[in-house]
Amino acid sequence: MKRVLLIYTGGTIGMMQEAESGTLSPVDFAELGQYIPELNQIEAEIDTVAFEKPLDSSNMDLSHWQNLAAIIEQNYHQYDGFVVLHGSDTMAFTAAALSFMLNGLSKAVVITGSQLPIGRVRTDGKENVITAIEIAAAYRGERAMVPEVCIYFEYQLYRGNRTFKYNAEQFQAFRSPNYPVLAEAGVHIKYNENAIRQIRSESFFVDDRMDNRIAVLTLFPGISRHIVEAALSVKDNKLVIVRTFGSGNAMSHSWFLDALQQAHDNGLILINLSQCRAGAVQQGRYATSRGLDKAGLISAGDMVLEAAIAKSMHLLGVGHSGENFKKLFQANLRGEITEWRQ
Ligand code: ASP
Repeated sequence: MKRVLLIYTGGTIGMMQEAESGTLSPVDFAELGQYIPELNQIEAEIDTVAFEKPLDSSNMDLSHWQNLAAIIEQNYHQYDGFVVLHGSDTMAFTAAALSFMLNGLSKAVVITGSQLPIGRVRTDGKENVITAIEIAAAYRGERAMVPEVCIYFEYQLYRGNRTFKYNAEQFQAFRSPNYPVLAEAGVHIKYNENAIRQIRSESFFVDDRMDNRIAVLTLFPGISRHIVEAALSVKDNKLVIVRTFGSGNAMSHSWFLDALQQAHDNGLILINLSQCRAGAVQQGRYATSRGLDKAGLISAGDMVLEAAIAKSMHLLGVGHSGENFKKLFQANLRGEITEWRQ
């Protein structure tokens, strides 16, 4: 029997409604486990470990990602796969961060949660947890079926660093617009083997260094010069992700391009990432993006914002800068970017 470690961090899946206020807040795992008696019937040996204080995922920060990576590292050789129970709000950020922290992964790390608490009759949590465990325990011979950090939600398995939460209402809460699903659960779990990353012959290790000296600047028509200049001149900040329009376009006003150029010359790393959730940045395709190219912006290609944030923190944390940072940011490190689409 395969061994799976279930790591409970919090999220709606483990929340209960407070009687007086009706507010949802997380409960501990012992209470949560009672609602999934089916765990005893799964053909896998399951152990659980829980965060000391379960979290609404809006409160996740770098220290929690590092804690998760440490739990996986400490238990890596004792288990065949890992399932992380996590709030859906920032699940895609955690998935992306873990994908960069875990090097040489040859086992599945499946992150899941739910839109309705596990104690509710119509909960989506049970199916999500049960199937996530099955996927984490799925092997063909010696090889894990999905040796990746992934998100399982509502019958779909996604590559973690390709997803974002797009729906706060429907059970199907995630999307991966630029990369196919890794598996679909129906009567059987159908694995999309061509899309799943191959195990490389590297050995597993964790590098959890992350630098959060980054900012995100979302452009909009009419944005003031004051806001742009302020965002580009934050003391000690190292990198700004500029969320541009369409295929990576922005205003051609000289004050705007000059501000970018100046920031670039002062050593700030600038990333061009589109506000469109599908497709890719193609810097230089339109005249309105050629200026960005000249000002030294680095194209984020078809990465999602969540992955671009985690990758920026990771590369800065490891100490990359200049041309080296640019080369690695545009390279496909964990399946997060399609290199030919840049
Ligand atoms: N606020 C919750 C969280 O992210 C939402 C959820 O779990 O779906 O922790």
